[in-house]
Amino acid sequence: MSEHVTIVEVGPRDGLQARKDPVATAARIGLVEHLRRAGARRIEVGAFVAPDRVPRMADTAEVMAAVGSRERDGDMVLVANRRGLDQAMENGARAIAVFTAASDAFAEKNIGRAVAASLERFSPLVTAAREAGVFVRGYISTITDCPYSGEVPPGDVAPVARALFEMGCDEIALGETLGKATPRRIAAVVGAVARHVPLDALAAHFHDTYGMGIANVAEALRLGIRTVDAAAGGLGGCPFAPGASGNVATEDVLFMLEGEGYTTDLSLEQLLDAVAFIEHDMDIRPTSRVYKARRGG
Ligand code: MG
Repeated sequence: MSEHVTIVEVGPRDGLQARKDPVATAARIGLVEHLRRAGARRIEVGAFVAPDRVPRMADTAEVMAAVGSRERDGDMVLVANRRGLDQAMENGARAIAVFTAASDAFAEKNIGRAVAASLERFSPLVTAAREAGVFVRGYISTITDCPYSGEVPPGDVAPVARALFEMGCDEIALGETLGKATPRRIAAVVGAVARHVPLDALAAHFHDTYGMGIANVAEALRLGIRTVDAAAGGLGGCPFAPGASGNVATEDVLFMLEGEGYTTDLSLEQLLDAVAFIEHDMDIRPTSRVYKARRGG
C-alpha cells in the first residue's frame, strides 16, 4: 500500500466560511499563497454559494484569479447548485465539490432538502462537470453523528457514498462533522462505505472538537485511506458557537504523518509559516498543538 498521503488543505474555504468577522480578500489570497509555498497541491480555495448566506466566500472569483486557479488542477471550489457550477466553470475551476449529508435532518437544515433529493439535484451537475473534464468531489457530512438527530448508523452512510460514486464523483469525502466519533466508529463507517467505493476514492474529513481528530486520521490511514482533509491552524467552526471546533490542523496531521513514515508534498516548517500568517496577519488564533509547541509564545 502506498505510503504517500495527499493532504487536501481546506482552510481557505471550510476553515473561513463560518467566521463572523469579515476576512479581507488579500488575506485569503495570502493564505493560499503561503499554503502553496508549503507544498500544498490540493487546496479548497473558495465556494460559489449564496453570498447572503455565506458572505465570507463572496470574493471567490477574485481569489481564484489572484492565485492562478485556472492553471491548477488541485484548486477546488464548492458549489451548491447549477448557478454555482456555472460560476466555477466561468472562472476556470478544474475541480469542484458538491455537498450532502448522511442525515436528513442535517441536509434539510443546511441545504434545504432531504438527502435523496439533494442527490437527485447534484446528479446533473456532476455529469456536466465531468463532461467538461472537471474533477468532482462529493462531501458527505454527519457520517457518525448529527447535531439534530443523534447517532448516524454506518448503513445510512454507505448508500449515499455509493450514489455519489455511481453518479460520477471522483472522490467522496467522509465528513465527521461534530468531531465526537472515536476510531471504532470511524472503522465501522469506512468499512461499510468501502464495500461500494474504492479506498483510493475516499478522503477523511475530521474535526477536533473532542480532541479525536488525529486518532481518527490515524485510524483512516490504518484502514487504507490515503487522502486527508485538514486546515492550517485548525481553522474552522464558529468562534461565537461554543463547542463548534475546527478542522483537524494540517500541521498536527503532518507532524503525525512524518513521524509515522508517510510521505507528503508539504514542508512542516513552511506550513508553520502559513500558520504564523494566520495568527499575525489574519488575527485568528491557531488551535493546533504542533504550532503551539514549535512557535507558540
Ligand atoms: Mg470541516
